[in-house]
Amino acid sequence: MEKIQFKAESKRLLDMMINSIYSNREIFLRELISNASDAIDKIYYKALTDDALTFDKDSYYIKIEPDKENRTLKIIDTGIGMTREELENNLGTIAKSGSLAFKNENEIKDGHDIIGQFGVGFYSAFMVSDEITVITKALGSDEAYKWKSKGADGYTIEPCEKDTVGTEIILKIKENTEDEKYDEYLEEYRLKAIIKKHSDFIRYPIKMEVTQSRLKEGSETEYEEYKEEKTINSMVPIWRKNKNELTDEDYENFYQEKHYGFDKPIKHVHIKADGTIRYNAILFIPEKMPFDYYTKEFEKGLELYSNGVLIMEKCPDLLPDYFSFVKGMVDSEDLSLNISREMLQQDRQLKLIAKNIKNKIKKELENLIKNDREKYETFYESFGRQLKFGVYNNFGQDKDVLKNLLMFYSSKEKKLVTLDEYVSRMAEDQKYIYYATGETNEKIEKLPQTELVAEKGYEILYFTDDVDEFAIKMLMSYKDKEFKSVSSGDLGIDEEKEKQTESVEKENKDLFAYMKDVLSGKVKDVKASKRLKTHPVCLTAGGDVSIEMEKVLNAMPNNQNIKADKILEVNVNHEVFQSLKTAFEQDKEKVKLYTNLLYNQALLIEGLPISDPVEFTNDICKVMV
Ligand code: ADP
Ligand code: MG
Repeated sequence: MEKIQFKAESKRLLDMMINSIYSNREIFLRELISNASDAIDKIYYKALTDDALTFDKDSYYIKIEPDKENRTLKIIDTGIGMTREELENNLGTIAKSGSLAFKNENEIKDGHDIIGQFGVGFYSAFMVSDEITVITKALGSDEAYKWKSKGADGYTIEPCEKDTVGTEIILKIKENTEDEKYDEYLEEYRLKAIIKKHSDFIRYPIKMEVTQSRLKEGSETEYEEYKEEKTINSMVPIWRKNKNELTDEDYENFYQEKHYGFDKPIKHVHIKADGTIRYNAILFIPEKMPFDYYTKEFEKGLELYSNGVLIMEKCPDLLPDYFSFVKGMVDSEDLSLNISREMLQQDRQLKLIAKNIKNKIKKELENLIKNDREKYETFYESFGRQLKFGVYNNFGQDKDVLKNLLMFYSSKEKKLVTLDEYVSRMAEDQKYIYYATGETNEKIEKLPQTELVAEKGYEILYFTDDVDEFAIKMLMSYKDKEFKSVSSGDLGIDEEKEKQTESVEKENKDLFAYMKDVLSGKVKDVKASKRLKTHPVCLTAGGDVSIEMEKVLNAMPNNQNIKADKILEVNVNHEVFQSLKTAFEQDKEKVKLYTNLLYNQALLIEGLPISDPVEFTNDICKVMV
C-alpha cells in the first residue's frame, strides 16, 4: 500500500516526539482523551440544531482498554468520527502549524518547550508508541477507514469495517528500555491515576475495566478478583468543586490540561458568584509572557461555558485589554447555549461578569503587591507595560483602576516602587512627584537635568519605557501630587536661587539673545539654568511635548513630525559661562563656535542625533588649536 508522507512541519514535530527527551510522557493520554471529548462535543452541538439527531447522554462515552498481552492501549470514543478527507487533513498535518514558525531551531531541538507550550495533541502518542492505528467512522457516513503510522516515514489509509460511529485509537506501546518503563501505560492503577490527574473533569464518562475483589460465593473469608467496568473520572468540572477540596496542584494541572500556558501560573483565582449573577470562574495570572504576546497573532479572552458546555474558546469581551494576559474560564447558568457572537457582546449578564472579573483581578494584583512583592515584580516585568498602556488608552478611562498597580524604578531605593510608596515618603517641602526619562536607568542617573532635584534629596522615578511618560501625563497626579519632569521649566524648588539666576540672565541678556540667534530654528530659547550644578548645559522642553516624547512619536509610522519646544539651558555658575562672556566682549565668532559646540553636546547627552557630525568635530579641533 502506498505510504503518504507527512507535511514537512509535522514530520519535524514527529521526530521530536519519537526522540523526545521530554519526561512528562503521561500527557499523551490527556491529549487523546481531550480529542475524544471534543469529538463527542461535536455531536452534542449538532444535536442542538439538528432535529433528526438526539443526544442520548448514556450512549456517549470514552473507553480505555489496556491489553498487556498484545502490548496495546485502546482509546475508544463514540464521537463524531472522521471521513477519509478529515483523517488526511487532521492527522497528516499538525493543527497549529503556525506555532512552529515562531520557534528557533534550538528550541525545536530540545522539544521540551514546544511540547509544554502547545501540548501538540495527537502526535504526543508517539512518545509512548511504536505504531498508531486509528479506526474511524464519521457521523452520516457508511464507510470506515483505518489510518496507520509507525512515525516519521509516513502513514497509510485504507477502508475497513466498523459498525458504530466514532473513533478507536490503538497504540502499540513501546518496549521497555533501560531508562524508560513503558509498561506502566498498560497498568490499570497507573492509567487510573493519569486519568484522575489530568482528565477528571471531562464531561463524558471515561470508562475502564478495573479489577475488583469480592467474597467467593459460599465463603466468608476467601476473596476472588473480577473485572468490572467503572467510570474513572468524577465528571464534575473543577470549577464546580469546593475551593477547600482543591489543592494548588489541582489548579496547576487544570492550567496545563487546558493549554492556558507553558509556565506555572503566579496566581489562581477561583470565583463562585451566586448573587444577582451566578457564575463560576477560574482565572490564572501567568508568570511568563507568551511568546506571541506582543504580536498580532495573540488573542485575549477567556473560555466561556454555558452550564458546563463550552460555547466560546476565547471570549474577548470578558477581559479589558490591559488584563489580556489573564487566562481561564467562566461558566454561567444564566447564559443561553445558542447565543451568537453579536448577541453576546450586548449581553447584560456578560457585561456584569466582565466587570466583576476586572475588579477581582485588580484586587488580586493589589494583594500580591502587599503579600508577595517578589512574585508581583516577576509578573510586572512581563506585563507591566500592558498596565501602563491601560492607563493611557481610551483617554485614561481606566486609569483609576490601574494606578495602584504601577511601579517605577526609584533613584533612592534602586528598585521598583509604587506611587503610593513614593508619595508616602515625600519630603515635607516637596511639591511634586519627580521623574526623569531616558533609555536605561544608568543613562538617566547621569542626566544633568536630575542634578538639582537629586541634590535636594528628592526621590526621582526613572521612566525607561516608551509608554511611561504618556501614561503619567494621562494620570496627571497621584494622591493630589502632580507629576513633574526633572526637565520641566518650573521645578518648584529653591526660590532664592531662582531669583539669582534670573538676575544673571538679565545682566547678560544680550549674550543670551545672541546665542538664541545662532541657534535659531534649532531651539526655542536659550536660558540661564536653575537646575544644573556641575554640567555646563542641558536641553529641556518648554511645552507639553517632552524630548523623550518627541523621540517616541517620531519613531512611530506616519508620524506627524511633532517636535518638542527645546530650550538650551546654560549653567551660569560654570567656568564655560565665563568663557562665553569674555568671548562676547572680544570675538563674536568665538561665541558662535562655543554655542554650536554646547548645543551639540546637549544633543548627545539627550541621545539625540547631531545634524552635522563633521562640522562638530571640526569645531572641536578649532577650539584645540
Ligand atoms: P487539536 O485537538 O488541538 O485540534 P490534535 O492534534 O489533538 O489537535 O488533533 C488534530 C485533529 O484531529 C483534531 O482537531 C480533530 O479534528 C481530529 N481528531 C483527533 N482525534 C479525534 C477523535 N478521537 N475523533 C475525531 N476527530 C479527532
Ligand atoms: Mg487535541
